[in-house]
Amino acid sequence: MAFTIAIDGPAAAGKGTVSKAVAAHFGFAHLDTGLLYRAVGAKMLAGVEPVEAAKTLLAEDLEVDGLRTPEVAQAASKVAVMGEVRAALVDFQKAFARRAGGAVLDGRDIGTVICPTAEAKLFVTASAEVRAERRYLELVEKGHEISREAVLADVKERDARDMERAEAPLKPAEDAVVIDTSAMNIEEAVAEAIAAIEARRDA
Ligand code: C5P
Repeated sequence: MAFTIAIDGPAAAGKGTVSKAVAAHFGFAHLDTGLLYRAVGAKMLAGVEPVEAAKTLLAEDLEVDGLRTPEVAQAASKVAVMGEVRAALVDFQKAFARRAGGAVLDGRDIGTVICPTAEAKLFVTASAEVRAERRYLELVEKGHEISREAVLADVKERDARDMERAEAPLKPAEDAVVIDTSAMNIEEAVAEAIAAIEARRDA
């Protein structure tokens, strides 16, 4: 049986961690759709035309190292503004969403554009300062040399670009359950997410 869980939200809100935990809890497959845009962004940085990169993207392109850097995140949000890039990535995401056995997709436009009829929709958010602090600690842990200020600036710049673009802007779907994780730890955020999805499933 197909059951789609759409999880959207701004950069570093905890979507990735919540999505993985939700997918594990329900035994569903998980797709981090940000990786698709990051892979296209990385190709653009390597000199490939972004629309061409999106049209020829392969599963192995999502496995390459270095997709989690702030530079690639910025490039991802720049290619994500392009309608032709987004269009080239739609079919893959839609097919993934309806696979048998259930799917969790996280991104920016899953509940609004990719899966408007998803059985459950969450919008995971937190204040820009909290998100930047979490991302900063994550990057430092991985050995990146970066300042708090630079991470906050990156988060705010990407938020603005993601929310203000004409195509598939970042916003909660009307029927999404909004979870603000500013004052939550990861266990609390996951528990809220699972409770919200179970409520939708049982409704
Ligand atoms: O989620 P992540 O931070 O990896 O996404 C990187 C960028 O990809 C975002 O800033 C956004 O511009 C873009 N993106 C998107 N739509 C999605 C997922 C990501 O536009 N569904």
